[in-house]
Amino acid sequence: MDTRGEARSIREPARDVPVFEETDVLVAGGGMAGCAAALSAARAGARVILLERNGCLGGVATASMMGNIGNRFVVADGTQVVRGIAAEIVERLAEVGAAPRDWRKLNGICMDSERLKVLWIDLLEEAGVTTLTHSVAALPILDGEAVKGCCFESKSGRQAVLAGNTVDCTGEADLAFRAGAEVREHRASSSLLFKFRDVDIDRFLDFLGQDPAGFPDGMDGVRDYAQCAHRWREYGEFFFPHHGGKKWRWLQETLRASRAFGEYRDDKWGNRLWWRDTENVEALGMYTHRRDGTLYINTGYWCFDRIEVRTLSRYELQAQQFAYAIADFMTRTIPGFQKARVEHVGVDLGLRGGRYIRGRATLKAADFIGSRVNTLKDDVIATAPINDPERSEVRGAFGSTCDIPFGSCVPQKVRRLLVGSGKSVDAEGGNNRLYRGMSGCMVYGQATGAAAALASRKGLDAGELPIRDLQRELLRQGVRLGDEQRLAALGLRR
Ligand SMILES: Cc1cc2nc3c(=O)[nH]c(=O)nc-3n(C[C@H](O)[C@H](O)[C@H](O)COP(=O)(O)OP(=O)(O)OC[C@H]3O[C@@H](n4cnc5c(N)ncnc54)[C@H](O)[C@@H]3O)c2cc1C
Repeated sequence: MDTRGEARSIREPARDVPVFEETDVLVAGGGMAGCAAALSAARAGARVILLERNGCLGGVATASMMGNIGNRFVVADGTQVVRGIAAEIVERLAEVGAAPRDWRKLNGICMDSERLKVLWIDLLEEAGVTTLTHSVAALPILDGEAVKGCCFESKSGRQAVLAGNTVDCTGEADLAFRAGAEVREHRASSSLLFKFRDVDIDRFLDFLGQDPAGFPDGMDGVRDYAQCAHRWREYGEFFFPHHGGKKWRWLQETLRASRAFGEYRDDKWGNRLWWRDTENVEALGMYTHRRDGTLYINTGYWCFDRIEVRTLSRYELQAQQFAYAIADFMTRTIPGFQKARVEHVGVDLGLRGGRYIRGRATLKAADFIGSRVNTLKDDVIATAPINDPERSEVRGAFGSTCDIPFGSCVPQKVRRLLVGSGKSVDAEGGNNRLYRGMSGCMVYGQATGAAAALASRKGLDAGELPIRDLQRELLRQGVRLGDEQRLAALGLRR
């Protein structure tokens, strides 16, 4: 059969699909969002089934090895404005030595992503969630516009889960898309991280210190060389900014002179492809904590216009080869890296976006960036620090917060389904979608899981749940929705 003929199709025979279980809440995808959704639904008293296509939990944070949680918890004066499961995860990681204890003072929180996998298992087990691994949520079961669960594929074949409400945390809104929700695709990038062992960070830092002015300044995580060195010496955390290599004078000169990746070629958008389909070979984000003895490397982008299996597969395989190509360049050229060896390469290409829903509300840049006053929404499900457009540091600079609206995770055109990943909610921002960092994904996950649980208990569509019911449950679960005055204005305090 010619499998390339996209216009061709075959007819699948109708068949009876065995029901694995009937549950209150089905969560598809066990990344940061899905785990938070499953946990909060279970803590709200629901029976929960979580389907994860990998053999581990955590998604981009573990399978793609993204070991840095952007500190979008704290505003400039140190006030913590994001609480709930997102903060609990960081706290618990810190308790077992897998994240810095003084994480509130740092712009990025370097954590041990292997430990994170097990933390999620422990928490979900404790809450009574049924987690199925190597289980791909394949097809939503529809009754008109209502999603009644989904068929999934596993080693046991095709089975169905029936659910009162479903939360789509696949990261690319797979179920919402297949249920007929209005979705948009945008040009997005993807990367795969790897870990180096035996890097001599002190030697590397000394080398960077020989040309402090050539250090990438004004970027995320650390402002300049002095802050980078201070952070390592004071907190044991090494952080070289995302994309830092693009502004690192020594790297640019060495790359040009060595021609390690040959000549670049322009793609049809005018981007420079250096190695096969790779852009930004020199992005070179790097981070670690002294306790780990390893260094995470985040470099190389693969960009795509739509979620499509042939291209994504090509990029995913290239990314694994590229890890060794860039590792070879680094060990040959960077002082402190001579003895380094690749310890582990992530297994999933990490997608920064790609597909997102059109929701009942949109998280808007005007609300999220640049405001010196709090943005208020009646359907607030969390508060997040507002970004300062003049500074690329992750921590909210002004001290003001943006209310995250529940409507942005309620898709149009389908019912009984919410989208729980910050990557695929309705938010402005293209590839840099506004609240797609790990904390944002957990925030959305917690809110959608709780909504699905409460709605299923009442026999409702989660999108129609009275918002104060959801807000009360979120407060009960420790989420911050504003200060006391604000809670009183919302009628949540007497
Ligand atoms: C390269 C890169 C660097 C980043 N850097 C940072 C950073 O420094 N700091 C930060 O805070 N954030 C960063 N982010 C963003 C953040 O890591 C992610 O947006 C966030 O972790 C996404 O979590 P998620 O659960 O929404 O989605 P994902 O992590 O994508 O999780 C989706 C889960 O669903 C599973 N799945 C998918 N489809 C199905 C299906 N059909 N059935 C069953 N399971 C399925 C996947 O296996 C996965 O486990 C980065 C992202 C990338 C890609």
